[in-house]
Amino acid sequence: MSNFNQESVVSVHHWTDTLFSFKTTRDPSFRFRNGEFTMIGLKVNEKPLLRAYSVASANYEEQLEFFSIKVQDGPLTSRLQHLKEGDSIIVSRKATGTLVIDNLLDGRNLYLVGTGTGLAPFLSVIKDPETYERFEKVVLLHGCRHVKELAYGEMITETLPKDEMLGEMVRNQLIYYPTVTRDPFHNRGRITDLMSSGKLFSDVGLADLEAEKDRVMICGSPALLTDTKQLLLDRNFIEGNHGEPGHFVVEKAFAER
Ligand SMILES: Cc1cc2nc3c(=O)[nH]c(=O)nc-3n(C[C@H](O)[C@H](O)[C@H](O)COP(=O)(O)OP(=O)(O)OC[C@H]3O[C@@H](n4cnc5c(N)ncnc54)[C@H](O)[C@@H]3O)c2cc1C
Repeated sequence: MSNFNQESVVSVHHWTDTLFSFKTTRDPSFRFRNGEFTMIGLKVNEKPLLRAYSVASANYEEQLEFFSIKVQDGPLTSRLQHLKEGDSIIVSRKATGTLVIDNLLDGRNLYLVGTGTGLAPFLSVIKDPETYERFEKVVLLHGCRHVKELAYGEMITETLPKDEMLGEMVRNQLIYYPTVTRDPFHNRGRITDLMSSGKLFSDVGLADLEAEKDRVMICGSPALLTDTKQLLLDRNFIEGNHGEPGHFVVEKAFAER
């Protein structure tokens, strides 16, 4: 049996000239945990061209959703950005990754720290009822350069709070904190600077980070990963992984080539 399923594109949404999302059909045999990534791609010259992608839809949803960058000369995304409804896409049958709540010790508050397309895994984590059962407050941080890049803001602030199954938990427990570095906006600055200065915590009404009660998931650029990880290590947080749950977990949003 092949390690891949052939799925069909159901819809495409372009956020900006560098960001887009798309939904596909989902083979019922494809199982994943919220926060995981899989391999997806296209057939190019009869060979599969595959890249790692976080699954942005929740594991109970009927369709799969992906949130993608458009790299102009990128082998995959220079092609992928032209996807249309009905096109075929290859999706691995397996998913993996560290950004799952099972890799975290119990705690009071969960911080989800994403930059750019690093938001994607957290879109499924915030749709998981178990996230709200395990944590009192869930703080979703999304850092971008420009306001127009803050994709999914309306889904998070308008659609999810009205959701039949999740609405009440989202309204009471989810705090969304988008921030940009290059445009005027109500929240400005790099996530690590907002954490170091304490501004983030006074803005959301929570105490400064403490390993005893706070848990953190990080997904973004190499610089975000390095800086946030250091900030947590300085506060005695311990990194978790599949073998051993910890105070925080980390995943690259992309690999530098
Ligand atoms: C664990 C993991 C999960 C990932 N999840 C996603 C996802 O959900 N959505 C997504 O768009 N990409 C994701 N990526 C990146 C993805 O695998 C590809 O790199 C991306 O689709 C570009 O493919 P490409 O062939 O066009 O260019 P590549 O040759 O893969 O990349 C070219 C260059 O573009 C830059 N780049 C690549 N991806 C990004 C990105 N997402 N944001 C900013 N710069 C980038 C890097 O500098 C890279 O060196 C993930 C990567 C990893 C390792």
